[in-house]
Amino acid sequence: MAYIYDDQNIFAKILRGEIPNDTVLETEHSLAFRDIAPQAPVHVLVIPRGAYTCYDHFALEASDAEIVDFTRAVGRVCEMMGVQADAAGDGCRLIANGGRHGVQEVPHLHVHVLGGRGLGRMLAPAE
Ligand code: 5GP
Repeated sequence: MAYIYDDQNIFAKILRGEIPNDTVLETEHSLAFRDIAPQAPVHVLVIPRGAYTCYDHFALEASDAEIVDFTRAVGRVCEMMGVQADAAGDGCRLIANGGRHGVQEVPHLHVHVLGGRGLGRMLAPAE
C-alpha cells in the first residue's frame, strides 16, 4: 500500500507560509517550531519539508540527504533547547506518532521534542 499525503494538513500550510509558526530552526530539508499547545516546558516539533505522512514513510522513501538533515535537526533542537541527554542536559523524549493506532493528529511527519521536566513512564494505559 502506498502512503497517501494530504497537502491540506496544517503543517503543509505552515511550510507554505500560509499559517504562522514560532520557528526554532530552519535547515535545507527541515523546520522546527514550538508546539501550539505545549505539553512540557520544552515542546518543539521537527518536520521535514518533504511530503511524508509519518516516520516510516520518511524512513522508507526520503533521500539520504533529507534523512541526514532531519536527524541532525532533531539533535540540534535538543541541544538548542538544553534537553540533550548528555552530562550537561537533563534529557528529553522524542515521539513520532503515526496513523490511527499511533493517534496521529496531523498527517505530516513530526518528531515531538519534549523536555524541561520529568515526563513519567513512556506509555499511558490504552483508552
Ligand atoms: P500528533 O498528535 O499528530 O502527534 O501531534 C500534533 C501536534 O501538533 C499537537 O501537539 C498539536 O498541539 C500541534 N499542532 C496542531 N496544530 C498546530 C498549529 O497550527 N501550530 C503548531 N505550532 N502546532 C500545532
